[in-house]
Amino acid sequence: MSRPELRREADIMQHGKNFLKVNDQVEVITGKDKGRVGKILKIDKKSDRALVERINMIKRHTKARAAGQEGQIIEKEAPIHVSNLMLVCPKCTNTARVANKTLDDGSKVRICKKCSESVEPSKKK
Ligand SMILES: [Zn+2]
Repeated sequence: MSRPELRREADIMQHGKNFLKVNDQVEVITGKDKGRVGKILKIDKKSDRALVERINMIKRHTKARAAGQEGQIIEKEAPIHVSNLMLVCPKCTNTARVANKTLDDGSKVRICKKCSESVEPSKKK
């Protein structure tokens, strides 16, 4: 089974020199979740915000839908602005500034400026 090609454009977000992608590990660098690390679940390029796993959780009260049923409180992630996020290098586990590098086959990867390793989320399991 071959995996469907990722629609790369939609999955990459640029903020200054930071490129963030879905499945990247990121650290929150400001706000109430400062210092916490999570995986990017979703990116919204229009608002420059990302949903990060277990980060910026908000409580939503849901109303009872039927008589006799109680409303619930559910927790879910709220989008966080990309300027509050910093990529975490999977190799050296530091927050990393990245550089872009073009490989021999023409594909572009992001590399960590600290350890020079690729920071792309591994596609192989
Ligand atoms: Zn690194």
